[in-house]
Amino acid sequence: MPSTTLSTVPTERTLDWVQRLIEIDTTSSVSNRPLIDLLAAELRRHGVEPILVSDDEGTKLNLLATFTPPDGSTAGGVMFSGHTDVVPVDGQDWSSDPFTPDIRDGSLYGRGTCDMKSFIGIVVAAIPDIVARPLAKPIHFAFSYDEEVGCIGAAGLVEEVVARNLRPDVCVVGEPSEMRVIRAHKSMNVIRVDLHGVSAHSSLTPQGVNAIEYGAELIRFVRNRADELRASGPYDDAFDVAWTTCSVNLVSGGIAVNTVPEDCSITFEFRSISTAGAADLLERFAAETNRIEN
Ligand SMILES: [Zn+2]
Repeated sequence: MPSTTLSTVPTERTLDWVQRLIEIDTTSSVSNRPLIDLLAAELRRHGVEPILVSDDEGTKLNLLATFTPPDGSTAGGVMFSGHTDVVPVDGQDWSSDPFTPDIRDGSLYGRGTCDMKSFIGIVVAAIPDIVARPLAKPIHFAFSYDEEVGCIGAAGLVEEVVARNLRPDVCVVGEPSEMRVIRAHKSMNVIRVDLHGVSAHSSLTPQGVNAIEYGAELIRFVRNRADELRASGPYDDAFDVAWTTCSVNLVSGGIAVNTVPEDCSITFEFRSISTAGAADLLERFAAETNRIEN
């Protein structure tokens, strides 16, 4: 086994890569192609042909690359993933140019230094080391565009990872997390239910079907599930709120105080601590919606 030394001081090569990446403006309003081209050239220089996944306009690119072990296998192994874009600097009072990396008092300043060009720089600086030794398992790079404006690039990147059957055993995402390992995020599930009743004058309620009143049943149901999950789990103490949460956050409906409302729209969300739990909960909400409908 080759020995590995761990150090918190970046090598010159790492620092150089980080700074080169910061110098390329990749705010979401501009193309990230210059940065992707630079990474692609570096990969090719080391004998790895990257896969570039473009958006519809061809202005933004995801990059996927696999370093294979001697047997040529591409499935499994470790994936290093990050986003290439940064948030804008418009209207912000910077004491140095955000796209000119500046080291002051032992800290590196520049747009995206922390989130997350240092991570990509560290990974890319490791390429010569990765290709210098026979790998036991594949190593993958997966870099996306437009994360900061809604994880837009990631969808196409994930499709490519699935299509190529890469199935990494581990994926390390270099988001800043104050040097703590964050091993999971809750899932976020947003559901909108539109209820349609029958409108009537409020003096003739038996002739109408009150969409808001039926909606209230659904709201109560969501709240009961929330209470149930809080009281009986399952729990995962790694999360700030250790159980799956749900809550109704948007409601609209009705047109006048003297009219039985025909329409009611309810939007609620739940954040699950597990995939299985999310599917389960979704089924229960669907079943309740069907019950109200019939
Ligand atoms: Zn980020």
